[in-house]
Amino acid sequence: MMAALVQVEDISKTFGGVRALDRVTFEVCSGEWIAIMGPSGSGKTTLINILGGLDRPTSGRAIVDGLNVGTLGERELTRYRAEKIGFIFQHFYLVPYLSAVENVMLAQYFHSIADEAEAAGSLARVGLGDRLHHLPSQLSGGEQQRVALARALINHPKLILADEPTGNLDEANEQIVLEILRELHRSGHTILLVTHSGEIGRMADRRIELAHGRLMHIVANVT
Ligand code: ADP
Ligand code: MG
Repeated sequence: MMAALVQVEDISKTFGGVRALDRVTFEVCSGEWIAIMGPSGSGKTTLINILGGLDRPTSGRAIVDGLNVGTLGERELTRYRAEKIGFIFQHFYLVPYLSAVENVMLAQYFHSIADEAEAAGSLARVGLGDRLHHLPSQLSGGEQQRVALARALINHPKLILADEPTGNLDEANEQIVLEILRELHRSGHTILLVTHSGEIGRMADRRIELAHGRLMHIVANVT
């Protein structure tokens, strides 16, 4: 049995009167690909945000790589996000006035020091070696998401958190992004991916299904 990289222990999160997560418990092993599924409003993004140190649980604990994320101060959380987590969001969140390579270098800068050659290498890895100096507005949605992938990977994160990363992409670009995620999984990365798609869910090692903030099922996919 491999050590758990992620331990979610009895996490609840309330926003005012809304219970976004209700006593959720599970573990993720290093190298696993987990799909988080469930209807809109079931707590998927809240869970990803808590694991990524973007939000804190109301009760319970999220332990990632031995760190109890909810107890970290703001400065420690900034370090935690820069060093341990690679984020990929549905809406990309690239800085609009920075080029592709500068967007990746910004993540390096937050981590340690910017290195243009290394940033360019990361973009080449996602097939964008010829788009280094394009602005986000000069790139297609699929290309923008690949810049976000290069940015997420540049600091060798322990954990990749992807919240509906193909939600805004057409079929062809969805396949390109999924192929990159498959390759990351094959090379040993740990991935938590939120998706509505049953097809994408079946690519993962296990599916976690949420409804009304509760964990309903954990299904192991047969491969
Ligand atoms: P999902 O990602 O599965 O669609 P979310 O985690 O975004 O669901 O939201 C779960 C529930 O928590 C929803 O009812 C949503 O309206 C509520 N919620 C999420 N974030 C906030 C917030 N910052 N303030 C108030 N309510 C929120
Ligand atoms: Mg969501």
